Amino acid sequence: MASITLTDIVKQYGDGFHAVKGVSLDIADGEFVILVGPSGCGKSTLLRMIVGLEDITSGELKIGGKRMNDKAPRERHLAMVFQNYALYPHLTVFENIAFPLRLQKGQFSEDEIQRKVRLAASTLELEDHLDRKPANLSGGQRQRVAMGRAIVREADAFLFDEPLSNLDAKLRGQMRTEIARMQRRLGTTTVYVTHDQTEAMTLGDRVAVLRKGELQQVASPRGLYEQP
Ligand code: ADP
Ligand code: ADP
Repeated sequence: MASITLTDIVKQYGDGFHAVKGVSLDIADGEFVILVGPSGCGKSTLLRMIVGLEDITSGELKIGGKRMNDKAPRERHLAMVFQNYALYPHLTVFENIAFPLRLQKGQFSEDEIQRKVRLAASTLELEDHLDRKPANLSGGQRQRVAMGRAIVREADAFLFDEPLSNLDAKLRGQMRTEIARMQRRLGTTTVYVTHDQTEAMTLGDRVAVLRKGELQQVASPRGLYEQP
């Protein structure tokens, strides 16, 4: 686990457009921060700079106190959970969770993979479902498999990019509960991007409101609500 510190982070795209205009934010070890704002305000850009999928134009990114601006994604020890969870339908739960380990060819023995996947599965209460395919799981179980994939990487922090935006309202409600429960249980530093007000107001320890590339406000959900 690790803190994430953003200092005056700027993103200027090749066409000169400033998508992120000097964002500073301290995310404590174990904290759950929601990044919210209208479409186009720079949420994904900011998340992608943290993960290392996008260069930082200026400013500094620290993870666990270490400067990360020029580090490759794999050196940042983060795990991103995407929209729709991107599970492989033809693979079992076990193989879906094992996938990131198998990608790093030769780095883990079969025994290590077994051990790591079973540990992640037991943390997520998936140990009875390891042989099933995603189609035979509930929405909540699928969400947990996606998180299992993040956990198995032994990441220092989780980054969610609008993970629930394509789900219907009922499932979204269940997933919110599931994610909040897992995050409390694991205590992993989490940055969660959404444009959904309900998610913003119910999930996190703090809400950071982004508008046109600038942080407009950072507050507890209650503090945000009580603003005039
Ligand atoms: P959000 O995730 O909040 O919807 P994005 O981070 O995707 O916002 O985009 C922020 C702004 O940057 C938008 O105006 C978008 O059009 C622009 N943008 C995103 N990617 C690029 C790119 N590769 N080149 C130029 N502009 C981009
Ligand atoms: P490899 O691990 O062999 O570099 P991958 O396709 O797994 O290849 O990943 C490419 C890069 O993106 C790696 O540096 C990896 O750390 C990073 N990466 C892959 N998946 C994720 C993810 N879900 N979250 C964060 N980073 C990821």
